Amino acid sequence: MKTTSKPDPMEREIARIRKQLLALGPMHPGSVSLQYQVCGRSGCRCMDENRPRRHGPYRKLAYVYRGKPVCRFVRAGCAQEIAMQVATYKTFRKLVDRWVELSIESGKKRFFSAPHPSRPPARS
Ligand SMILES: [Zn+2]
Repeated sequence: MKTTSKPDPMEREIARIRKQLLALGPMHPGSVSLQYQVCGRSGCRCMDENRPRRHGPYRKLAYVYRGKPVCRFVRAGCAQEIAMQVATYKTFRKLVDRWVELSIESGKKRFFSAPHPSRPPARS
């Protein structure tokens, strides 16, 4: 048995993920889409019989928080900032998902003896 063994590759990757998580900036969940709207006022361009031109585009951010869907219009001038935060959130989720994946893999080796999940280990 080696006494000066390097940390295993999974532990090293987890350490890398932790560093990357610490370096993340502001974030926001969701995805941005462009919306066009009809205001409904008679005589407005959006109600034109021949060539209706809807209002917009408006940026809409949609996400699910604690099981509830949320939808908000993004203020004009915030498009770039929200896009950056949404991208950061995606990175955050990717890193956390990978950390969880590695933890499950690592746990399989350390904590569980039976490869079959439906069969509890025999009592000694
Ligand atoms: Zn209108």
